[in-house]
Formats: sequence, structure tokens, C-alpha cells
Amino acid sequence: MTRLLLLATGGTIAGRGADSASLNTYTAGVLAGDELLDAVPSLQDLAEIRVEQVANVDSADLLFQHWRELVRRIRLAFASDPALAGVVISHGTNTLEETAWLLQQLIDDPRPVVLVGAMRPATTLSADGPLNLFQAVQVACNPQARQRGVLTVMDGAIHAAAEVTKRATQGVGAFISSATGPLGWVDDAGVHWSSMPNSPPTPFATLELPERWPQVAVLHGCVEPPAVVLPALLKAGIQGLVFTGTGAGQLSVVERKALAAWSDTLPLMLRANRCGSGPVYEDPEDERLGLLAAGSLNPQKARVLLLLAVIAGWNRDDLAALL
Ligand code: ASP
Repeated sequence: MTRLLLLATGGTIAGRGADSASLNTYTAGVLAGDELLDAVPSLQDLAEIRVEQVANVDSADLLFQHWRELVRRIRLAFASDPALAGVVISHGTNTLEETAWLLQQLIDDPRPVVLVGAMRPATTLSADGPLNLFQAVQVACNPQARQRGVLTVMDGAIHAAAEVTKRATQGVGAFISSATGPLGWVDDAGVHWSSMPNSPPTPFATLELPERWPQVAVLHGCVEPPAVVLPALLKAGIQGLVFTGTGAGQLSVVERKALAAWSDTLPLMLRANRCGSGPVYEDPEDERLGLLAAGSLNPQKARVLLLLAVIAGWNRDDLAALL
């Protein structure tokens, strides 16, 4: 029988509500991973699933140490068990795309890593977690899931880590891949693939993650951003900075002046955008101001990339080469 590892981290999929009609009043990260499996007995027909509990938190409360532990356990599981077909991770939806993107950078294995969450707590009428978990396991068992990198499965849609984002605060169909659409879908007839991103790159496949991580901040672009924020962050010694620029990743004069006036070494910096879709291209001023265009990475994924680049000791040229 197909063998999988389930790494449980919490989230609404493991949440317990005040009553069965509560969609928003609940505590995330209550049920353990094996309780999630027990709630879906038909999973036993699909795979033999070993459960490891990595955390049991709301995903807004995930810590770098949880990411480090996930990476360690996935690398170890793949290295020590050639017969393991894949890994499923139960996760809160709020930061699911960041964890998926992080793992995409760090896990170099053709076998699938599939993240799954739920928008409704486990105790709610029509909870979406059990079906999402079943479908995530279907995808992880599917031989054609290999070589597609880290995936997410929610509401029957299969998304690639690079593209997926949470786009709604409510509703079971909260995840989209705005530029490309999903990679495929899952239904009664099984797993269907509509596109194939072949072996996405894993630039940090051998990177060892430290106990202490660097500080990388995100600044949100808006009308007249408070002038004190940027110098304060730079003085505080942050090691990376993502600008959620307006439009196609534009910085205000206030921000550009602050960067131009800074006399110490600037941290690694990326310009992303706040539109939610579409790329940010290189700008003639970027080099002078120490910036790099984040391409189509959203701000939270750009931050993940910067965290890893800083950990790896990369400079602006190294990061530019990757982007
Ligand atoms: N609060 C939840 C989380 O852990 C939201 C969810 O899982 O849907 O991210």
C-alpha cells in the first residue's frame, strides 16, 4: 500500500468551534493529526499514513522554529524511506502559501509535498477539512504528482507553491493561482492535471537552517507613508526588506529619499506589489537604491525568499541571478 507521512501543524482544519454553526468563533489548532485522520476512515483505503505532530497552532502563530522542524522532518523522511510516496502537511490557511513557498525552495525531491487546510473548523456543519484532507492524500498518492514541486490542495483545486495565494477571508474556495490558474483538480473520478511546471527549482536544497533567523520586514505602500518607519527599521539593523509597492511595485519619494540618504550598507531589498496579481519589473533606479524587482512574487513570498537569501549569506548579485 502507498505510504505517506502526515505532518500536522494545526490551523482551522484542526479547529474546534463553540457550536456546530460557528464559522468564525473557534480555536484553531486543537485536534491532533491522528484525530484528523480518524475523522476520515476511508483514508485507510488510500494509503498507510504515519502521523507526526510538528505544532498545533493557528498559522498566524507559526514560528521559524516550526519551519525549521518541518524542513528537517521532510528531508529526513525522504532520505530514510525510499518507499515513502509523499508528505501531506495539515496547516492553517492564513500562512499556508508562505510555508508552501518556503518548502519549495528547500526540498529537493521528486516526491510530492502537499499542504492542506480548511476554511471551516472541524466541528462545524459542512466542515471542509475532511474532504480537503482526503483529496490531499489522493494527490500525494498520485504518481503524476511527482516532479511538480510543493503543492496545495483546497476545495478540489491543486495549486503550485509559486502561484497559490489566499484571496478571501471567508468561503471554502479562498485560494487562487491568479496568473496561471490551478495545476489541476480532484474529484470523484480522481486526480486531473491541466498543466505541468516541470521540476521547479530548489535553490536552497542544501541550506541548513539556523536556530536564530534574520529579521526581514515588509513595508506596505500607501499615500504618504510615515517617514519615520524606514530609517527606524534600517537603524534597527534589519537584514532584509520587502516593499509592497503601489501599482507595479512603485516606491514613494519619501521611501526613495530615505534609501538614497542612508549612509550604511543597505539590507537586501525586494520590490513587490500590492495589486495581488502581475509582475514587478526592474527599474533604472533600482541599482542606485539597492533594490531588486520581485517579479511575480507576492510580498509574503518575497519575504520568504529574502529570509533564505540572508541565511545563505547571499548578496544583491546572487539574489539578482536567481530572480
Ligand atoms: N486561523 C487559521 C489559521 O491557522 C485560519 C485557517 O486555518 O483557515 O491560519
